Amino acid sequence: MSIFSRLRNLGRRELTCQDANTFLAAYLDGALDEQTSERFAKHINRCPTCSSYLNDYESTVDLSRATRVQNAPPELVAETLEFLRLRLKAED
Ligand SMILES: [Zn+2]
Repeated sequence: MSIFSRLRNLGRRELTCQDANTFLAAYLDGALDEQTSERFAKHINRCPTCSSYLNDYESTVDLSRATRVQNAPPELVAETLEFLRLRLKAED
């Protein structure tokens, strides 16, 4: 399911951790509409799991940007993100 159809399906219900997880990259890219972005931020502020996930995600992205030595292998970045994602799921 594309993120945009997911967005349409959100309706007015509260964002779940899974929603937050799905929209995280779009949120950081500024690709979410203002309303969804606000709801996302609200969830992050309330939810320690997601806020720590967001922090980890941001440091991973920063790290991969900062590492210039042959670039951070994309697999490493993908693996790290997958690890974080699984951890988030386990805590759900
Ligand atoms: Zn959450």
